[in-house]
Amino acid sequence: LLSLAGVKKSYGDKMVLDDVDLAVAPHDVVCLIGASGSGKSTLLRCVNLLEQVDDGVIEFDGQDITDPRVDPRTVRRRMGMVFQAYNLFPHMSVLRNITLAPQIVHTVGQDESRTRAMELLDRFGLADKADARPDQLSGGQQQRVALARALAARPELLLLDEVTSALDPELVGEMLAVLRDLAAEGTTMLLATHEMGFARDVATSVCFLHEGRILEQGPPSQVLVEPREERTRQFLRRVL
Ligand code: ATP
Ligand code: MG
Repeated sequence: LLSLAGVKKSYGDKMVLDDVDLAVAPHDVVCLIGASGSGKSTLLRCVNLLEQVDDGVIEFDGQDITDPRVDPRTVRRRMGMVFQAYNLFPHMSVLRNITLAPQIVHTVGQDESRTRAMELLDRFGLADKADARPDQLSGGQQQRVALARALAARPELLLLDEVTSALDPELVGEMLAVLRDLAAEGTTMLLATHEMGFARDVATSVCFLHEGRILEQGPPSQVLVEPREERTRQFLRRVL
């Protein structure tokens, strides 16, 4: 579904992604792990075309999306992204937050987008919050709304950037439970996470990034349990 080959990205003279190769097949859950500043968010932002790569190719569903003729909006429509800090529109109801983009971008009818939004809210235990404003919700609830918004357009790929790291510890579990369910249903995900337990249980593959390079990637049973690289071992010792 998604592949990166030889992707490079610098800010000024700082190389942030250095020759990254990565593949995500349908129904994969690929976890990006690595220290702060290792390039996880930048990688996700390049996939979503929020950043331009300097070199290399990113293919999505067989199309080279780094081609400047590709309209980023048509690509983003097929990917859902959720960030660390939920970026809900504060002045709109929960329901409106979810239905806005599908209605504008996908020319989905009002009834259909509301039905879909209510299905998602119901499933995430938020059906009674449809008319609430984001500031009336807990952080965990807001983050589930952000996830519902990302899923409203039925994306083929879900990109998640540390979606639990801004949450209070007691709210992390419920968000991870939602992500586990989505994974079990076969949702294709590429996510940056510090939740090693989640990566171990749910990931089909784990990529360890160090200073913009993927030093090691493989199934969690290998990368997290029997890492080959000393750097990976050092990282895991610090976070586990
Ligand atoms: P964290 O775990 O803290 O979220 P990360 O792995 O997501 O870290 P990135 O946000 O991708 O790391 O950042 C990688 C490097 O790129 C860092 O050194 C950061 O300072 C730098 N960087 C990121 N965005 C920019 C930018 N817009 N301009 C300049 N440098 C940037
Ligand atoms: Mg980041």
